[in-house]
Amino acid sequence: MLREIVKYPDPVLERPSEPVTEFNEELRTLVDDMFESMYEAKGIGLAAPQIGVAKRITVIDLSFQKDPEDKIVLINPVIIFREGKQYEEEGCLSLPDIREKVSRAAKVTVKAQDADGEWFEMDGEELLARAFQHEIDHLDGVLFFRRVSALKRDLILRRIRKLQKAGDW
Ligand SMILES: [Zn+2]
Repeated sequence: MLREIVKYPDPVLERPSEPVTEFNEELRTLVDDMFESMYEAKGIGLAAPQIGVAKRITVIDLSFQKDPEDKIVLINPVIIFREGKQYEEEGCLSLPDIREKVSRAAKVTVKAQDADGEWFEMDGEELLARAFQHEIDHLDGVLFFRRVSALKRDLILRRIRKLQKAGDW
């Protein structure tokens, strides 16, 4: 089922989400809905708070539906290793049309549970490392514009207000 993607300044986007404790049918349905909603919005990553659900769940698919093997589900994820630096442009489905360069670790290892509750570890570099960090930030209530300079953030917030006024947000 398609879920509506919530936009800034919905408060659910800026508060920490709750850990998942029950690995049941309801969770699997939610994960399916997240993939469906992400594909519909043409995104490569989506966190549960972005559909208004304050739970520590995120889905990622860098191949954008081309390879089912690339579907990643991270439940209660934590970054257990980070190395290096990268500085690339990011966007976010909750901040449509806003793009800005964000400094991230170049390489990370994530520990997470799958939809059955099994723990696993996964390494990511470049775009995947960035997706891990961007999506896990969402679970902590951190939008990517919190990680740019105050000057750039002000410009972004001003642009959003302008779009809101014009009814384009
Ligand atoms: Zn995002």
